[in-house]
Amino acid sequence: MVLNPVISKLVGKLVVLASASPRRQDILRNAGLRFEVVPSWFKETLDKRLFKAPHEYAVETAKQKALEVARRMPFKHLKTPDIVIGADTIVTVDGLILEKPADKDDAYRMLSSLSGKMHSVFTGVVIVLCHKKEDDKVNYQLIEFYEETKVKFADLSQDLLWEYINSGEPMDKAGGYGIQALGGMFVEYVHGDFLNVVGFPLNHFCKQLDLIYNSLPSCEQKMASVNQAPNDQDASTVKPQDLSNNPSVSLSASPVKRKGGRMEVGESSQQLTNSLSKHSGDSQGSEHMSLQNITSRGRAVSVGENTVPKNGDLQRIITLMDGFRSSKALFTASKMGVFDLLQKSPGLEAARVAAEIQASLKGTQSLLEACVSLGLLTSSEKSHQKPVYKNSTLAAQFLGSDSPFSLHSYILHTDNVVWPLFSHLENAVREGINQHEQAFGKKAQDLFQDTYYDSQALKLRFMNAMHSIAKVTGKAVATAFDLSTYKTACDLGGCTGAIAHELTKANPQMSVIVFDLAAVVEMRERFQLKHMDTDSRVSFVAGDFFKDDLPKADLYVLARILHDWSDEKVDILLKKIAERCTPGCGVLLSEIFLNEDRSGPSRGLLQALSMSPGRQRSAQEYSSLLERHGFTTKDIKYTDNLLDAMLCLKV
Ligand code: SAM
Repeated sequence: MVLNPVISKLVGKLVVLASASPRRQDILRNAGLRFEVVPSWFKETLDKRLFKAPHEYAVETAKQKALEVARRMPFKHLKTPDIVIGADTIVTVDGLILEKPADKDDAYRMLSSLSGKMHSVFTGVVIVLCHKKEDDKVNYQLIEFYEETKVKFADLSQDLLWEYINSGEPMDKAGGYGIQALGGMFVEYVHGDFLNVVGFPLNHFCKQLDLIYNSLPSCEQKMASVNQAPNDQDASTVKPQDLSNNPSVSLSASPVKRKGGRMEVGESSQQLTNSLSKHSGDSQGSEHMSLQNITSRGRAVSVGENTVPKNGDLQRIITLMDGFRSSKALFTASKMGVFDLLQKSPGLEAARVAAEIQASLKGTQSLLEACVSLGLLTSSEKSHQKPVYKNSTLAAQFLGSDSPFSLHSYILHTDNVVWPLFSHLENAVREGINQHEQAFGKKAQDLFQDTYYDSQALKLRFMNAMHSIAKVTGKAVATAFDLSTYKTACDLGGCTGAIAHELTKANPQMSVIVFDLAAVVEMRERFQLKHMDTDSRVSFVAGDFFKDDLPKADLYVLARILHDWSDEKVDILLKKIAERCTPGCGVLLSEIFLNEDRSGPSRGLLQALSMSPGRQRSAQEYSSLLERHGFTTKDIKYTDNLLDAMLCLKV
């Protein structure tokens, strides 16, 4: 038996699983592995658009989870692990990545999109080997790989799905189902490793351990020497710097139909540099790995020299470089009504689409093909016939003007307002001020005036954009905390009332006053009639929150307001709120919260490049601003949606 001896190589080492998933723990325990569980604090908020392929996203998330634990343990747990294992499982269907559902509706959407279809389950795994050095610094050596399993679901009825969702099983599982439990009844067949679908590709993991500890004797010897180096005379011949001068180790012989790779993250100047390079593989597109002698690769090369960049790294740069093309293709298809057309009439040929959107055939064809490549459309080609196009699940959900979570208006706003501003980014960075004048020929002040008072069309466009994004994010904000003790709320800058509506839906005891500028409030009926049930518990008051008295309430909502304003302006507003509050009153704040070290998320940091008078802040920074006015932070929620949330109480 090949596997147990591999696992036994880990006896005596401090092995850590950076995952709270009970299923992963069971799989590894059943295999006889002894390990500690240290769940990662890494927030799974990587921007999926930056990854060319779904498995790259899963591997990167697994890597960040594992590294976060490996780096934290020496400080917080006062011990350095030998090995940290990180894993991330995702489900993909129709070009869409599904993770854990946010709520029951989300679970329903996910499971419906899997019904009757084949989908892929990817688990990205990263093994971090930690090498402690003499100066107590740690070198990290990473082995990364992923496993794909294909799963075919039967057609699932609505009733069955809801019964399953109400069992509670979907909520903590990628794709919203557990194959090892009730979710197993949906499955017609599985191609590949079953345990991969449960959450951990044990077989592939053992094979990787085998490569590390058995198939690569010289490599392991050298790693062992690195660990001993400080006190071992003999080891001086194989010091870390010697290893760093070794040729890349190409592991690529025995044809294992798996995908894997190794890379280094050096935290000091002395880096281990063995690398497991990937070779493209068999006819099904998976990769072969083979083993070559560590010393047989010719002359030694130093790090960086002659090393081919990892495919993923190159792709990431290319994706960043080309990002604007994708954005503009999305904007253009939205603006020209492609998604609306294909929602109404799915299965049209390019010529028909071109005629309907009044565009050239060549241009339309290119746009449709680009949208297919971005996962926004699907095309199907019957033999000897021209391809016909349909909206992908993603487009059906988000891109039609009447889609359930339509971002259509927000996309148009981004194209009309944000795109021109970003075209002047270099100026914005040089001058540190927004570029309204360059982009629109008017100062921001005049434009604001235009938006709100002069042009009905501009005002409507802005409100539509706010309404569309609030409809998508509102529920996550409204349900982030238990608000059942609040009877009256005031949504400051509540615009069309979309969030107020979600608040009243989630809290039957609550009435909400939407407080916004007069020019906005006078347009409210358009949105109520168009999108909402008339709700007697939502009312509107017109006013300026910097100048006018605020309505009395026991909960004040500030959703996407404070980032627009400087600390001084925020102080004025919070002071006014504090004056209206008695002890126990709350502030529900919703923004993108930056990481405390301002390392992300990039959506917030990129938004800051608009150079509005405000600034993007971390949760701690918002807490500090609120503390100045007698509020303490009760809870913070990173929703995994577009907005995070914080509940503060007046003391
Ligand atoms: N809270 C809504 C949401 O999350 O969807 C809308 C956010 S939008 C970015 C900002 C809102 O603040 C707009 O509706 C705008 O009209 C309103 N606003 C801006 N300045 C205001 C002021 N001085 N007094 C009242 N409302 C204001």
